[in-house]
Amino acid sequence: MTKLPVPVDIDNESGAWMSEGQPMILIPRRFWVFVQKQAEEQFGLVATAELFNHATRKGTRVWCEQEELRSGACREEVLKRYFDRVSARGMGRFAIKSIDVDTGHLAVELHNSIYVAEYGNVGRCVCYPFASAVAGAVEYLAGGSTLSGAQISGQEVCCEANGHSHCLFEAGPGKNLEHSIG
Ligand SMILES: [Zn+2]
Repeated sequence: MTKLPVPVDIDNESGAWMSEGQPMILIPRRFWVFVQKQAEEQFGLVATAELFNHATRKGTRVWCEQEELRSGACREEVLKRYFDRVSARGMGRFAIKSIDVDTGHLAVELHNSIYVAEYGNVGRCVCYPFASAVAGAVEYLAGGSTLSGAQISGQEVCCEANGHSHCLFEAGPGKNLEHSIG
């Protein structure tokens, strides 16, 4: 075991948490996954994936933009820092497998996904919010380049909850990479 691997500042008056200048909350893992499970039950898989897709892409882009402002790091460095920090916050162990800044392609491997931990081996991919995060990361990377404005798609290629040894996400421009919920 180790100590909290991300810096946290707590406002004495409000009790609000900040990590590297961005507001954070600490919530039970099971609760966060309950939200996704309940949404699937109530609205269906497709609608739930769409909901998480928009929210997660935006969340990723905003985090990266804020981190760029704070640190002054280049976009590729910010993107790498994003997956480092998401890992440090206990969402799973992310590792960038390949990144092509010019074509806007990104592949990210994940071990110990929070979704797999809560869903178990259910025979389908369950980490689709992370596929959207990877797509959001490419959108951030593409901003300010010739790829800016291109439609970016992301998918979970394989998932531990579907019998694989790890989860793998791919994102890039074009419609051949469909959003994965299956
Ligand atoms: Zn997965």
